[in-house]
Amino acid sequence: MKAAPEAQKRLLDLAELDSVLDRLAHRRRTLPELAEIDERSKLYAKLVTQVIEAETEAGDLAREQTKAENDVDAVRTRADRDQKRLDSGAVTSPRDLASLQSEIASLHKRQGDLEEVVLEIMERREAADTKVTDLITQRDEVRAALSAAEDRRDAALAEIEKEAADVQGRRGGVAGDIPADLLKLYEKLKEQYGVGAAMLHGGRCQGCKVALSIAEMNSIKAAPHDEVVRCEECRRILVRTPESGL
Ligand SMILES: [Zn+2]
Repeated sequence: MKAAPEAQKRLLDLAELDSVLDRLAHRRRTLPELAEIDERSKLYAKLVTQVIEAETEAGDLAREQTKAENDVDAVRTRADRDQKRLDSGAVTSPRDLASLQSEIASLHKRQGDLEEVVLEIMERREAADTKVTDLITQRDEVRAALSAAEDRRDAALAEIEKEAADVQGRRGGVAGDIPADLLKLYEKLKEQYGVGAAMLHGGRCQGCKVALSIAEMNSIKAAPHDEVVRCEECRRILVRTPESGL
């Protein structure tokens, strides 16, 4: 392939811009915020589930408490009713009086037991409510940190996009100076090897850093200036400049 030396030199400008684009793409993929967002998202999802579980448990205990309090009320109501009957003097038979007194005593004992149950549930409920509050605090903290990381990621991406758009614009101008067939070869090599062209500098390929043999140098020296030469080592287009050492 043949191309004017000036057009070949423009390949170096193109390669430089492409390496900037590669660096930007790498930065985009490896933003520290991405790992942070991933980690915090998982933690957030876990806390959301834990809050729901804790709220369910607290709700169950609230219902259990209401039920236990109703049981206490029912027993108290019955004991009060019996006590009124006793106080009214309507019951006169000693046997009935004894039976009524015995029932009142057993109702009081039952009420005491049920009140113990209520207290025990209240303690468990208090612990469950505290757990809900703690988990909600944790969940909201993680959500806030996640949002902050997302904002930082978006800002970083916007900055990278802006820079990439600027470089792409300049790249378009450079590519316009390069003949279509040479550009096509460059793009193909870039796709295959990552970088399409490198400078021959001091007898060394700047792409793979390998020094050319004397035979290779002689062959390049003998080649016409518009001949497109390639590095034997890395297959990139070798661009000759006054610093090539030829
Ligand atoms: Zn090379």
